[in-house]
Amino acid sequence: MGILNRLRYWRRLKADLTARSAADIPDRLPARHGVIVGTDNHPKWLVFDCPCRRGHRVMLNLDPGHTPRWRVSATTPLTLHPSVDERSPVGHCHYVVHEGRVRWIERTDRR
Ligand SMILES: [Zn+2]
Repeated sequence: MGILNRLRYWRRLKADLTARSAADIPDRLPARHGVIVGTDNHPKWLVFDCPCRRGHRVMLNLDPGHTPRWRVSATTPLTLHPSVDERSPVGHCHYVVHEGRVRWIERTDRR
């Protein structure tokens, strides 16, 4: 892999960490790395720090028994459906993650 491709790859969002339960997720995650909580056969959550870098954590349900539910079609780099639409104290973050790239739909800064 050439250095430019390596850089592009490194910049992408990956869900390459795993945890048995949400309590096992470290307080600080490495940038651009998400955690799949649960087991391979029964993933429950996808957890990562929002790419807006305003310091809020995103927790998406992967369990088909609950709604809303997201599907991870690839973890490294990450492809996710549907879009992430988070309203948190820092604002509104709405984006699609495809092949590890974040495409913003809407982003508001609350001042
Ligand atoms: Zn955000």
